[in-house]
Amino acid sequence: MSDVSILEETDRTTGRDALRKNIQAAVALAGAVRSTLGPKGLDKLLVDDEGRSMVTNDGITVLESAKVEHPIAHMLIAASATQDQTVRDGTTTTVLLAAEWLQNAWHLVAQGVHPATIARGYRMAEVYCKDHLDSLTFEATTEDIRSAAMTSLAGKLHQKMQSTIAGCAVEAAEAILMESNGTVVADPTRVKVITRSGPSLEQSKLITGLALPKKRAHVEMPSSLGAGSILLVDGGLELRSLSSDVQLSVTSTSVLQSFREAEEQRLLEQVNMLVDLGVTLLACREGIDDSMHSHLANAGIKAFRRVAKSDLELLARGCGARLVPSIHQAKEADVGVFISSRCERWGDVDHWILETDEGGATFVATGSTETVVGEVERCFADALGVACRLKENPKLIAGGGATYIALARRLRRYAETVPGREQLAIEAFADGLETIPRVLAENAGMDPIDTLLQLVSLQSKSDDDSMGLNVLTRQPEDMRVSKVVEPARVVEQALSGASEATIAVLRIDDVLWAKQEIGVPDDVQASLDGTAPDRR
Ligand code: ADP
Ligand code: MG
Repeated sequence: MSDVSILEETDRTTGRDALRKNIQAAVALAGAVRSTLGPKGLDKLLVDDEGRSMVTNDGITVLESAKVEHPIAHMLIAASATQDQTVRDGTTTTVLLAAEWLQNAWHLVAQGVHPATIARGYRMAEVYCKDHLDSLTFEATTEDIRSAAMTSLAGKLHQKMQSTIAGCAVEAAEAILMESNGTVVADPTRVKVITRSGPSLEQSKLITGLALPKKRAHVEMPSSLGAGSILLVDGGLELRSLSSDVQLSVTSTSVLQSFREAEEQRLLEQVNMLVDLGVTLLACREGIDDSMHSHLANAGIKAFRRVAKSDLELLARGCGARLVPSIHQAKEADVGVFISSRCERWGDVDHWILETDEGGATFVATGSTETVVGEVERCFADALGVACRLKENPKLIAGGGATYIALARRLRRYAETVPGREQLAIEAFADGLETIPRVLAENAGMDPIDTLLQLVSLQSKSDDDSMGLNVLTRQPEDMRVSKVVEPARVVEQALSGASEATIAVLRIDDVLWAKQEIGVPDDVQASLDGTAPDRR
């Protein structure tokens, strides 16, 4: 089942052979990320078409850069990508679970159980797990949220760095916390990330407020401002371009001069409008004419030009301002407020730092090379995702495989109560859950079978569902005490995503099997080749 060449499988296959090959593809894919799971997981060196290299331990990064052609492998990668988008963690876990459930399904098929029965049993098991996950969760304190952010960084960078990034992520999540319709919302897109290669990894830090790598338009403008009003313009404060905007018929040499003066007058009016609106800070997506610098400076206005639209939108959310197409169209209601604005020079780049009522934070990711900075950036995004989810819904579960073992134990008891062949599928699902502690042990160089048996017996003897494997001490421990905890949402999403993908694969074969006696219809064959729309 571990033939990696199956990833390039393009032959058409039918019937039972198709299921076997589909499962081989899933297992081969899981094999590519298996060794990265957990803190003792190893790194992968990825090299793209253009020779750019990246060292990472992140499951989804590995999967997305792999040149995988098999449609089944694509389905698993899609499940993992959804996991990444929704909860930002548990991507390797999702692929490992799906591959293990598929492999277990194959054993049942070999014993004569129909894939549709297995799919039904798996669905029952998934529903049961989700219903019982609540009994394994506990309320997170701020310290727990930090521990969970640390757990999400397991195996990435070094431990001191994990702690720094986890701390920054929790602080950032707190800075962007908002109430909306009575619910707490922490939107990670409100945190700005700036990357700087050169300074050491350890200089990565979180800054209160929004920082942009921008220099004020002119040195005479104030470098620091106290609380004031800000206008954000999705345009500029520039002379109209002669070539495109206006047609002039020049009859004397003074025409151009007077045209320019009229244009300057037009810009000056806009500066006066800013003064009337009480604006002390101006940010434009386009340019600001040099002739206006001194006028703005004299009016005490600090201005920034060529600010990216995405940054203007971020500023608008932080200041409660509305982006206007031009200064002419600005009204009082469009103006936002800020607490302070200052300029700082980091290395040889000027930065503008704006603090607002709505919080907002900036993470500065540093590292000696772009590769390191990229990994710091990804780690921060993961930790921030976890911290934000937990701020919104502070439910945690024990990591280190503890929760998967606890769910498997419950499932086996549940299976006994199911009379049909689905019972076998529920047991196979339970076995599949145990792949997580087994792989964690394997990656730590421990015997997976002995470790699993020891953990199961410990959980059962002590009736403690938090007993898991701490791979750092290589001992079975109460994971809540060891602070290896994860958001319940990560496990819940991994269970849904992986079982969804597993069942989809089983169902593809189900269609083939139903038709195998009379040959495979063209459209089914096409769906296997990935050229037809999904038939579900
Ligand atoms: P994923 O992409 O699935 O998030 P990771 O490589 O991040 O994969 O590993 C996550 C797994 O590692 C989780 O099951 C988590 O509980 C486990 N883990 C993290 N820290 C420890 C630890 N100290 N001991 C054992 N397991 C750990
Ligand atoms: Mg993880």
